[in-house]
Amino acid sequence: MLSLQKLVILIGITALGWLVGSLLNYLADILPAEPRRWSAVCPQCQTARRWSDYFLFKRCGTCGAKRSLRTWITQIGSIAAVLVLWIYPPDRFGFWMILPCMLYFSLVAVIDIEHHLILHVVSMAGAVIVIPIGLIWNGLVSTLIGGVAGAVIMFLLYYLGELFRRWISRARHEEVVEEALGFGDVTLSAVLGLLLGWPKITFAIITAILLAGLASSLYLLTMLARKKYLPFTAIPYGPFLLIGAVVLIYLA
Ligand SMILES: [Zn+2]
Repeated sequence: MLSLQKLVILIGITALGWLVGSLLNYLADILPAEPRRWSAVCPQCQTARRWSDYFLFKRCGTCGAKRSLRTWITQIGSIAAVLVLWIYPPDRFGFWMILPCMLYFSLVAVIDIEHHLILHVVSMAGAVIVIPIGLIWNGLVSTLIGGVAGAVIMFLLYYLGELFRRWISRARHEEVVEEALGFGDVTLSAVLGLLLGWPKITFAIITAILLAGLASSLYLLTMLARKKYLPFTAIPYGPFLLIGAVVLIYLA
């Protein structure tokens, strides 16, 4: 049986999840926009949205545009994720310590999946959030080496991908525009290195490469089965790096 006290806590945590979802949706709307402004606008009629529109999950008051699929997935996913995190926080960290870190992870994943973009402003905020956690977890030396290693390893992969792209472009006599890895992946990997420390960052990168490889193979097979062959459709790497980091936060 649920005691009254537990029920109140459960309602409070659900409300927190709702708040987190609204904040994520707001940030995922304003941060990738050019020029960047504090007020978000309706993508259809450009009317400014109020904060209460996010919190109450309202349609656009001017043109009636519905909320996008992403806003629904983010909102419901945030409630589920915050509840899971509350019930099963990682052994090493408490709920309140790891929550800002998970918020940062979610923001990166949402923007990367939607726009194939990892913003530098998000990476900088992420560094501020994760450095204290990394220092407590791994100490100064491992944190610093982890950050540098994350950046260097991912930069080399990025550079290899760029060479490969140029080689393919030359061989096919047409420009292959889509990059396999973006420079944002390098900054994300640096931030994760600061969090996970050396040598754990290498595990996150290897996990990301394997999972991304698996995902692209599945994607290619599906496309082949449907007789739609689209080579060089870049898949966002960021979420796979984050999966590796979450596994380490729980298990390492
Ligand atoms: Zn509108």
